Amino acid sequence: MGTGASLNALDRAASFARLENGVFDLAVIGGGITGAGIARDAALRGLSVALLEAQDYASGTSSRSSKMIHGGLRYLAQGDVALVRESASERQVLRRIAPHLARITPFVIPTTSLATQAKLRAALWSFEKLGGVPAAEQHEVWSLDELARREPRLRRDRLNGAVAYPEFLTDDARLTLANVRSAAAAGAVVLNHARVEALVEEGGRATGLIARSTLAGEDWGARVRARVIVNAAGPWVDGVRALAAGEGGPRLALSKGIHLVLPRALLPVASTLILRAPDKRNVFAVPRGDFTYLGTTDQFYAGTDYWPEIGRTDIDYLLNAARAAMDMDPIRDRDIVSLWAGIRPLIGEAGKKATEVSRKDEMWVGPSGVIAIAGGKLSAYRAMAARIVDAVEGRLDRRPSPCRTADLPLPGGERTLDGDDRLDRLYGTEAGLIRAGGDDAAAEARHAVLREGAATLEDYWVRRSARAWFDKAAGRDALAPAADAMGLLLGWDQRRRAAEIHHCLQLDRNSRRALSPGAEGNEP
Ligand SMILES: Cc1cc2nc3c(=O)[nH]c(=O)nc-3n(C[C@H](O)[C@H](O)[C@H](O)COP(=O)(O)OP(=O)(O)OC[C@H]3O[C@@H](n4cnc5c(N)ncnc54)[C@H](O)[C@@H]3O)c2cc1C
Repeated sequence: MGTGASLNALDRAASFARLENGVFDLAVIGGGITGAGIARDAALRGLSVALLEAQDYASGTSSRSSKMIHGGLRYLAQGDVALVRESASERQVLRRIAPHLARITPFVIPTTSLATQAKLRAALWSFEKLGGVPAAEQHEVWSLDELARREPRLRRDRLNGAVAYPEFLTDDARLTLANVRSAAAAGAVVLNHARVEALVEEGGRATGLIARSTLAGEDWGARVRARVIVNAAGPWVDGVRALAAGEGGPRLALSKGIHLVLPRALLPVASTLILRAPDKRNVFAVPRGDFTYLGTTDQFYAGTDYWPEIGRTDIDYLLNAARAAMDMDPIRDRDIVSLWAGIRPLIGEAGKKATEVSRKDEMWVGPSGVIAIAGGKLSAYRAMAARIVDAVEGRLDRRPSPCRTADLPLPGGERTLDGDDRLDRLYGTEAGLIRAGGDDAAAEARHAVLREGAATLEDYWVRRSARAWFDKAAGRDALAPAADAMGLLLGWDQRRRAAEIHHCLQLDRNSRRALSPGAEGNEP
């Protein structure tokens, strides 16, 4: 068994047939990090698993995060020692199983007084002790001179230095995809662009579901029989709950967060800087290749759209936070390379502001037996999945079996690479396959179709290659060659090819709606 199966988008008809003909121990609804993690864990324990994703893997919140694997420092302030331990050990696991998707970078918290510095250090000492952080990765205190040397653009007039500690950065969409592929290698039947439209209930128990293709021109569907069903639909958890009889009202409170990407030359940071926004929230400035991204906002949001609106106030909030903290040239709208917005599927807590609602995950079982899960973070997805699969085994009357997800590498993570260019970071040990295939957008797009299940140009451009957000001119130049390569494999005619490109350009344009006209992110 390899670490990652090839997900070939040409095999979709066969996947629908396997779904229709099988009786599964577990059907997972939703192919974000939550569903993907659960499917991988369950399949590795020997359960027969089906995973259905309405759009693309990670097309919801799991491609819109700040892409940080938090070690759990923040939970210390809440006194949650167990959570600190779990988060700290989870990030070490991720580094072991997917080193390319767990890049260590210093996080730098500027300080204004000796007292704040001392408080932070005390917290970090406890964190390092609790989390078993290796000596080489323990925090450092930087003097004002050291800070000036390392981060010359940071305004220092009100600072007395900084505290720096290592955190991990990932690529959320590719981490999700790696889990899906690993699940498939362990025998799971996984399918994207297959939306669960109905639950099948017999005698008040959910015994299956009906899934339909959401791809243009594909009229396939399947009735999937399953002993246990898990609803891991992220912001859509309440929508999927509404498919079952007797479920109560909404449980989620959704909160929107946006990010914007600038050329690194305009916002030059060497490490991830934690900046104080005017309202005292933390805003991150994160380096990634030739770019720096800024994020995020946190406000209740009523919709469940895949592409939430990005408002002028959101954009100005981030730019003002950067301007207040950094010495930088004025940022014009046309300097903004790209923007993205996402929705946090939080569990509702009456009377609290979005920023106050707990990020802890919660699982509950509906009246027809469907297990719903929401509220977690990307960072500890593996531990969360293990808890859910324990519960699934309980419902299957199986003796709990050992979880194996911490020991087996994810695809691309078989060994640590020396290289640190874009392909190495995204594809790990599989980068060589793309280099051998031509080392360009077309080679990457072919890899996306034949090994990573990409069925639309958006699947490639946004989630497989990350070009929509982290490429010159938002990766628009890659659209035509990628569409040609995908079209040849998937049999697109000229009309379909044009429609795929048009759709991506439209997404890009919509994300810039609040910017001045003509701000296309072309200018350095
Ligand atoms: C702005 C922002 C910043 C964040 N930053 C971080 C961070 O730095 N670190 C961190 O750890 N966490 C972060 N998070 C949180 C993290 O991103 C989420 O907790 C996580 O991605 C949620 O994953 P999920 O799988 O539960 O949901 P999703 O990723 O949304 O997955 C749910 C999936 O279900 C599918 N679906 C919906 N309905 C159906 C249906 N009927 N049939 C089939 N499929 C369906 C959807 O298409 C979707 O792909 C952030 C979140 C936001 C919004």
